[in-house]
Amino acid sequence: MTICLIFILVLSYLVWIKWIYYRHRRTLAKSIKHAMNVLSSRETNCSKIIALIVTAHPDDECMFFAPTIIRLCEEKASVHLLCLSEGNYYNQGAQRKQELLNSCAVLGIPASRITILDHKKLPDDPRAEWSISLVSTVIVKHVRAHSINMVLTFDGRGVSGHANHVAIHKAVSHLASTGQVPDCSLLSLKTVGLFRKYFSFLELPFSWLLPSRLCCIIGSQGYRQAKAAMLCHRTQLLWFRYLYIIFSRYMFINTFQMIPQGPKNLKIY
Ligand SMILES: [Zn+2]
Repeated sequence: MTICLIFILVLSYLVWIKWIYYRHRRTLAKSIKHAMNVLSSRETNCSKIIALIVTAHPDDECMFFAPTIIRLCEEKASVHLLCLSEGNYYNQGAQRKQELLNSCAVLGIPASRITILDHKKLPDDPRAEWSISLVSTVIVKHVRAHSINMVLTFDGRGVSGHANHVAIHKAVSHLASTGQVPDCSLLSLKTVGLFRKYFSFLELPFSWLLPSRLCCIIGSQGYRQAKAAMLCHRTQLLWFRYLYIIFSRYMFINTFQMIPQGPKNLKIY
């Protein structure tokens, strides 16, 4: 009797996940436009969206943002990537740069839309304090040069807590509060607690029920794509990376919060 009840509960939970997934697929374009405040647009896809993913290191794009990149590409948005370091912590910068290009090719971002910085003031180092002013200047220049209308990056906890991730969030928040990119939607990837982080796709109902501005979910085909992108980062493939690929909900689900914009072109004296 108890086994029967457990079986029914597990089955119901899996059916619920399936239902959320299909509902999400049907409503994704609308959700993306809602995040951009362009609900009135008649186009069914998101071809007018020029999105910029801002990361700190090669592999952040697939470890944390794969569901978003895959879904945005499927919805015909133009996706750009700005990676602020070559990931040179172990002097493997050149190799990691190539791995990033390979990973992005798998995810759907062409090399022409990828910028990888190698700036001596922005080293790949969790102990290095990146200048918020420098990072925000780099981002705002990129946004203007490519007519970006949506920026997606880390939140204040940086998913893994890495100081370089957090610095990017601070820089984007600075741009928001000073109104320097008023025509751009700024979204931050929500950091979830340890239990939810490693609950794989089974975490989906939590993400669905809790409030967020944008939710991107991938199914088995998208997951295979995200996994293939992860495997491009050969220098990073230590044993725990394989566990990450299986158990991390960021391989299946991304949820974002809006970073509220301040007044336009606020001058700070
Ligand atoms: Zn990183």
